[in-house]
Amino acid sequence: MIPTGFLQDLLSRVDIVDVVGRHVELKKAGINHKGLCPFHGEKTPSFIVSPSRQTYHCFGCGVHGDAIRFLVEHGGLPFPEAVRELAQQVGLQVPEDDTDPAERERARQARARQLSLTDVLDKAAAHYRAQLKASPRAIDYLKRRGLTGRIAARFGLGYAPEGWRSLASAFPRYDDPLLADAGLVIVQGDEGPDQKRYDRFRDRVMFPIRNVKGEVIGFGGRVIDAGEPKYLNSPETPVFSKGRELYGLFEARHALRERGCAIVVEGYMDVVALAQSGFANAVATLGTACTADHVRTLFRHSDDVVFAFDGDAAGRRAAGRALEAALPHATDLRRVRFLFLPPEHDPDSFVRAHGLEAFEQALAQAVPLSRQLIEHAADGLDLGSAEGRARMLALARPLWAQLPDGLLRGQVLAALAEAGGLGTEALREAWQGAAPSSRPRRWPPPGGGRRKLGTATQLDRAAWLLAHHPDLWFTLTDADHALLADTPAPHGAFFCAIERLLHDHGALTLDALAAELGAQPDAEAVAALVTRVRALHHFDSDDHGAAELQALMQRLHRQALDDELQLLMESGELSDDARRRGQELLALRKALAAGPALTAAAG
Ligand SMILES: [Zn+2]
Repeated sequence: MIPTGFLQDLLSRVDIVDVVGRHVELKKAGINHKGLCPFHGEKTPSFIVSPSRQTYHCFGCGVHGDAIRFLVEHGGLPFPEAVRELAQQVGLQVPEDDTDPAERERARQARARQLSLTDVLDKAAAHYRAQLKASPRAIDYLKRRGLTGRIAARFGLGYAPEGWRSLASAFPRYDDPLLADAGLVIVQGDEGPDQKRYDRFRDRVMFPIRNVKGEVIGFGGRVIDAGEPKYLNSPETPVFSKGRELYGLFEARHALRERGCAIVVEGYMDVVALAQSGFANAVATLGTACTADHVRTLFRHSDDVVFAFDGDAAGRRAAGRALEAALPHATDLRRVRFLFLPPEHDPDSFVRAHGLEAFEQALAQAVPLSRQLIEHAADGLDLGSAEGRARMLALARPLWAQLPDGLLRGQVLAALAEAGGLGTEALREAWQGAAPSSRPRRWPPPGGGRRKLGTATQLDRAAWLLAHHPDLWFTLTDADHALLADTPAPHGAFFCAIERLLHDHGALTLDALAAELGAQPDAEAVAALVTRVRALHHFDSDDHGAAELQALMQRLHRQALDDELQLLMESGELSDDARRRGQELLALRKALAAGPALTAAAG
């Protein structure tokens, strides 16, 4: 979609210190700049922005990338939009490439449509806000809930009046298809004189749902008195997906960083009520179970997540799903806890009944992930019997296997062994090998965003080897996979596609790969890589492939390590996390140097 040459041109004109500096307060650190990492909560800086490399890197949580990636991962912008925003800042026009005009037109229309949808939703939000001012009944309801006008304004709360066509007064055309597409108006019946249109939200307190950019993407509406359903959400639309969005994230984003902890609750009223009581760091899932996407988003904003649930059976079930979604992300530096309120309470009613301090106390006593895992597996079982303990262990094993490698994984194993009446070593032996381990911490891309030409050639070579000898993928370690998958575009996307195809189909052809890659946002850059890979001449024999790839990987790992070490050394005083990472890097460097020597085959 966007020509590769343009991306390079754009990145060479943009200054990443400006781009990041708009979101993070940066101070000089050696020849670089440092700040508090916006991707994980911290009190002393581990986050470095390097003007010479035009990259950012966090020594605490490992995030890194260039200006485009920063806007995508921190700002939540889709790739093409991030490119457009940067281009606008430096006065460049994004060229439209002429490979597929139909595709381009489709993309343009989709973009225009999303913009007009958020525009329509924004107008509706303004209408609901104005209606709230005119409704003493709705205001009284919010007051009874203990909310002040300030909090209501902060969350943009509104009121959808009774009546079937309240929105007709807010829009010039009630039959504008955008109103239906935005989920605001329900259309019933076939086109013609009998077709009926009416407002989806009627006589409800309205909670606008915003994305990370602050745009209104949907609504939640709550009945004022009795009535069903109690909560009504916008349907899925091109701008709104329940499985991805968290209510209150936009409003909570500063508090998440300041408090270093996120509270995840089930309802929007809980989020607003907690903010009113001084817990501005709460967010809510939107009437769905917590998904992997939710957890990923949460950990982008905080390293400490507390899931708060009602103490009833539904709450227990929801906790089980949250546990499963959180396990793969539970690294040693992160904290995941579960808070169960008394069965008669949700967070809103709990705080109102027992006060702020009681909630603070309950938070402090939240169950850590390790214990929740065992309790979840043991639910309903009699651990007093050998059968119960064996069954608990059998249920716990797939959960435990989801944990990333690290100390926590070992700790949980020991705890499970104890609860299961086994020695730790016996359980380790029984489970070892068969359980799939997840990826280790990702290493930085070789050379950062602006790679030396040599690295790009090596990555091309690795791409060629893997495209022609897919079996070689399985000779690589997890660290190799992670390194390849995390290289900047277009190589990272290429290696990820190889991994996906091999995983899904067990086999791979260059054509299948090209097709898979066609759907990427930066498909053009990837297509150029595929062309290069096709054109690379064939090396004389196949059996040298494995050795060559090993040598390439070793060299790439070493470059990545050296690069990260150098960045660390040129950045002066940083956090303890960064110091620890420095020691880790030196140890890795030493281990790598002690490994097999590089062969001349590479490069
Ligand atoms: Zn970080």
